[in-house]
Amino acid sequence: MWECDSLRQPLGAVKRMGGARQRTGRVTVAWMRTGISVAEARALVLAEAQPLAAETVPAESALGRVLAQTVRAPRTLPPADCSAMDGYALRAADLARASAAAPVELAVVYEVAAGGRGDVPLKAGEAARIFTGAPLPPGADTVVRQEQAQAQAARVRIAIHPKRGDSVRRAGEELRAGEVALEPGVKLSAAALGLLASLGRTQVAVHRRPRVALLSSGDELVEPDAAITDGRIVASNAYALAAQCSDCGAESFNLGIARDTPAELEALLRAGLSADLLISSAGVSVGDHDHVRPVLEKLGCRLRFWGVNMKPGYPLAFGRFEPPPGPLVFALPGNPVSALVCFEQFVRPVLLRLAGRHTTERPLLRVTLSETLRKVAGRMHFVRVRLRREAGRVFATPTCNQSSGVQRSMVLAQGLLVFDAEATELAAGSEAQVQLLDLDFLSGACW
Ligand code: AMP
Ligand code: MG
Repeated sequence: MWECDSLRQPLGAVKRMGGARQRTGRVTVAWMRTGISVAEARALVLAEAQPLAAETVPAESALGRVLAQTVRAPRTLPPADCSAMDGYALRAADLARASAAAPVELAVVYEVAAGGRGDVPLKAGEAARIFTGAPLPPGADTVVRQEQAQAQAARVRIAIHPKRGDSVRRAGEELRAGEVALEPGVKLSAAALGLLASLGRTQVAVHRRPRVALLSSGDELVEPDAAITDGRIVASNAYALAAQCSDCGAESFNLGIARDTPAELEALLRAGLSADLLISSAGVSVGDHDHVRPVLEKLGCRLRFWGVNMKPGYPLAFGRFEPPPGPLVFALPGNPVSALVCFEQFVRPVLLRLAGRHTTERPLLRVTLSETLRKVAGRMHFVRVRLRREAGRVFATPTCNQSSGVQRSMVLAQGLLVFDAEATELAAGSEAQVQLLDLDFLSGACW
């Protein structure tokens, strides 16, 4: 499984990583693995990602943020027994013999509305008119809905015998004072923000959003509004990666385009060292103009691995600037689809973990191949697929040309089909797993 040139080192020195000794221009020595599997790479990146420190924010702007504290109920919720219906508060025992043939009449002695108070204890044979959310009067133990009662002047006639406690919301039925209302690690939903408000919380501690610095590198790259001449192409990766970052709840800033020179790369990378995560794209392969790795090492980044057995996206490097808490670094391949797929597999889980999330994986769907796929053994393929539901099954079909330069293969993709590294064929009609990118695909389906 380990195809690395594995010079195993003592555990303490390399944290369970065998490694290839790397010598760069300076005396920097890093321990780096090469040619590892997707699963190993995922484990290595996640091992480096700890949730970021907490910050206190107004609860009303905390939607989607991850709670960094335990929230306990400062008070009982609901604070008192109250009515769940519009109707009559009464004593269930008074209706023990009520039936359609022999309705029971009670005297309606007063009315209590939401926000009001029913202070006078109800006596046997008495009821109070009550509305949803109003506190239950002392002496009452049950509410009968108005649809099940017949009002006549100051009396009410009821032909059913309710269970004691019917249509009553008990004090503390949601939370008692001091109980845990929300656990750390919860992604704050609309409902959670409502609960925080009910508990009187206007401020809440959440994990800081990850800050990501994005660098494009390549002599051929220009900004989208520039003239396209002499083999220039637009540095589109920065735009797609920024969008992927924001999809993970991270904030990104663009360091711009570095020409393929060590000096320019160094200058721009330095500007990103204040981030939590630095992402470069391109210049990380084995070409004469690929300077990203040596420059990162020169700046103090310890690379953990380079080269993951996957397609698209083999030339991917990952490391961390030392000493901690220097930023984590992903040097992604330049091909747009490779960059996006590597982001999906490794950067997204890291950003979610930095943001405090427990769940870092996409949902997995079991699908049926609609056509036969073939490849050589050695690398895990992530096939961009469209999905179609038919006769209780989900069929997957490759989007279009699967070249790592064809962005539309990713634009059209509803999921990434996992074609295992050692497998060489997935026959039409056989089953495989898809990482679901398009959650709308689940809409309306009954799974
Ligand atoms: P490289 O890894 O530098 O050899 O680049 C691989 C391919 O990705 C080349 O065809 C580059 O032109 C292309 N590429 C590099 N950077 C970007 C970028 N920021 N946006 C789009 N394509 C890029
Ligand atoms: Mg290049």
